[in-house]
Amino acid sequence: VSRELNPIDTHVMLGNHAVGGEKFTVIAGPCGVEGRDQILDVAEMVKGHGVAALRGGAFKPRTSPYSFQGMGEAGLKLLKEANALTGLPTVSEVIEASDVDLMAQYVDGLQIGARNMQNFRLLEAAGECGLPVLLKRGMSATIEEFLLAAEYIVNAGNPNVILCERGIRTFETATRNTLDLNAVAYLKRKTHLPVLVDPSHGTGIRELVAPLSYASAAVGADGIIVEAHMNPKEALSDGHQSLDGNDFAALMSGLRPFVEAA
Ligand code: PEP
Ligand code: MN
Repeated sequence: VSRELNPIDTHVMLGNHAVGGEKFTVIAGPCGVEGRDQILDVAEMVKGHGVAALRGGAFKPRTSPYSFQGMGEAGLKLLKEANALTGLPTVSEVIEASDVDLMAQYVDGLQIGARNMQNFRLLEAAGECGLPVLLKRGMSATIEEFLLAAEYIVNAGNPNVILCERGIRTFETATRNTLDLNAVAYLKRKTHLPVLVDPSHGTGIRELVAPLSYASAAVGADGIIVEAHMNPKEALSDGHQSLDGNDFAALMSGLRPFVEAA
């Protein structure tokens, strides 16, 4: 995935949107799919702001086994319905190699989460499938390890890899993670793959999502993936970092100069 070997930027197609192309990419949606109205309402809302794709987890790799684990295949079916209604391509996390074929029946892009960045069998399975893969940086992974994880997917035959910086663990506890914007600038020089930022998990604080989104655009990220929910207080996961309709509208209007400058 080195730029030295291939200097031309990779464009990864999500529906008819080229991630890594001219236009700043915004992928938005809830942390998890929670029900029919929940996902369809938020899909309509983010679609109204011109996002490139809808996110929503059906399989949630939660820190605690007592937390909401996602709706599973029922959630995937709802994503498919949201896609049919809005036309938005969908991205959802796969947590097991044996689920890749199931996911491919319902979604347009596979997310591999921070906790699975070095699940090598999963990387290979995603590589064999050919769908776009949004690969998130492990919370303690070096940039080198991150790039080598991407190599696993590409080597298995799938060039459609999108890297995503989502914050790393540091001594700092005021924010959920420390968003490593150094990594974004560094990766853009080092690799031809598109680089997105997840300011939601990167900060864990709703009020910080917009400023870090602008910072991501300024540092050269190809886009962002953001958590949004019509009623964050009721969200079954990550409500504290999710944007409601008003917050999301404000974010998109703040991003306009970056999107239009592209
Ligand atoms: C998510 O995107 O909902 C998620 C679980 O992210 P990460 O893997 O970056 O923690
Ligand atoms: Mn989340």
